[in-house]
Amino acid sequence: MGKTLDGRLSHPFIEGVNAFINFARAVVDLNGNMSCPSIHCVNCYRQSPHMVRIHLLHRGIMQSYINRQSPHTVTELEGNQEERARDQEA
Ligand SMILES: [Zn+2]
Repeated sequence: MGKTLDGRLSHPFIEGVNAFINFARAVVDLNGNMSCPSIHCVNCYRQSPHMVRIHLLHRGIMQSYINRQSPHTVTELEGNQEERARDQEA
C-alpha cells in the first residue's frame, strides 16, 4: 500500500502525505499536536505534524483514509464505472 512493486514509496503517496500534513497543520491543538492516522496510532495518539509525516511514510496510513484523502483514487474509480456502464450498453 502506497509503495511501488520494488518496495519504494510511490511518488503520489509521498505527495498525498505532504498534502495531508499541510492540511493538518491548520488543525493542530494548542501543543502543536494532531491525531496521527498512521497504522500504529490509528488516531488514538497525538503527534507533532513532523512525527505524523514520519509515521505515515514509514508505517503507512489507516486503510479508511486511502480513498478519502486521494482525489485521484476517486476519479479513477468513477472513470472505471463509466467504462463498465458503456461496456454493458454495447
Ligand atoms: Zn502515528
